[in-house]
Amino acid sequence: MDAQNLVVIGSGPAGVSAARAYREAGGAGPVHLLTADPDPPYERPPLSKEFLRGEDDLSPLDEDFAREHDITVALGDPVTALGEREVRTAAGAVHPFTTCVLATGAEPVRPDLPGADHPDVRTLRSAADSRQLREVAAGVRSAIVVGAGFIGCEAAVSLSRLGLQVTIVCPDDVPQEKRLGPEAGAFLLGWLKSEGVSVLRGTKLTSIEGGYRVRTDLVPVLDAGLVVLATGVRPRVELAEAAGLAVENGRIRTDEHLRTSAPGVLAAGDVAFAHNPAAGRALAVEHWGEGLAMGEVAGRTAAGADAAWDAVPGFWSVIGDRVLKYAAWGDGFDHARPLPRDDGGFTVWYERGGRAVGVLTHEADEDYERGQELIRRGDPAPES
Ligand SMILES: Cc1cc2nc3c(=O)[nH]c(=O)nc-3n(C[C@H](O)[C@H](O)[C@H](O)COP(=O)(O)OP(=O)(O)OC[C@H]3O[C@@H](n4cnc5c(N)ncnc54)[C@H](O)[C@@H]3O)c2cc1C
Repeated sequence: MDAQNLVVIGSGPAGVSAARAYREAGGAGPVHLLTADPDPPYERPPLSKEFLRGEDDLSPLDEDFAREHDITVALGDPVTALGEREVRTAAGAVHPFTTCVLATGAEPVRPDLPGADHPDVRTLRSAADSRQLREVAAGVRSAIVVGAGFIGCEAAVSLSRLGLQVTIVCPDDVPQEKRLGPEAGAFLLGWLKSEGVSVLRGTKLTSIEGGYRVRTDLVPVLDAGLVVLATGVRPRVELAEAAGLAVENGRIRTDEHLRTSAPGVLAAGDVAFAHNPAAGRALAVEHWGEGLAMGEVAGRTAAGADAAWDAVPGFWSVIGDRVLKYAAWGDGFDHARPLPRDDGGFTVWYERGGRAVGVLTHEADEDYERGQELIRRGDPAPES
């Protein structure tokens, strides 16, 4: 691939790592990193954890990378159009490129229900969202968190630790039952309760009034000073769709080198639906570490170096002080085998068609590590 200059769209892990890897692989042309975010690149995982609780400042992401690698970063100016070998921004800048990496990530989805779009109903993706949430939390006594995914669980525990009375509205019987199975969900439920979070189970949001009053299909009225929607994300594919790139499963389709269907355009991170040769199929992942890994592959590909994305995707979540580690192809299982340990740790193995496809661990790092290898090889999950 001709790599005379590189334009990267997005300052999350995929974008920053693509710019850095391009340089490190010998890419010598000018590099422009363009982002809608007004904050210089930062770590997103603490936004529902230490940063939300006010325990830590924003953690810079690869703070010196731009200066050290001669990379121009333009903040707070979204790209509005991807054309043939050029991009345009909202402020009117035009950047021609020989290679472009789309790393636009994902944005929170607000359910299509009455009142869910009220401006006082919060979502959590950016540093600005987390700052605002902390400010609002300081002036109220209670919060409702809608959704019990990882971000919902983490944010609920953080708000509880800030002294709020927190209720999670959880559509399943236990948190993340569909994604992780009932056994893992039961562990999560226990952790939430031990952190003082109430969990309304098996009930779905039906409306929100005035930004503060929640109705569900089981509970007529729930009032709280603050409502946070943690109801999933939607990959930001608008630029790609408008440019006619192949989009599949709501994400930009790429090969294992992160090349899209358009010449000179790559995609990485949450926005990509990338072929993973170890899995033998394309995967959708929304993990910090995978953003870094895919960005690195895209950057190296842009520089003309050899690289392919073939990792078993891995994810860590920190709920209060408890760390969960999850490695999986992430597209389903037919059997879950929970192995609780006497010391409070546990492992859940996930299989499909008799092959290991995922592992979830708490204080069982050796299983997390061997799990990645078993999953890659497609071996059966261990019995113990
Ligand atoms: C609160 C929170 C906590 C999380 N905790 C964890 C965790 O503990 N572990 C874990 O593995 N994952 C975690 N995640 C998920 C992880 O942060 C994401 O998977 C990761 O950030 C995806 O990286 P990305 O680079 O693909 O996209 P993003 O990090 O979303 O970055 C996308 C970038 O593109 C920019 N952008 C979007 N559109 C445009 C445009 N048109 N023009 C210019 N710029 C644009 C955005 O401003 C942003 O800078 C968490 C996410 C959140 C929100």
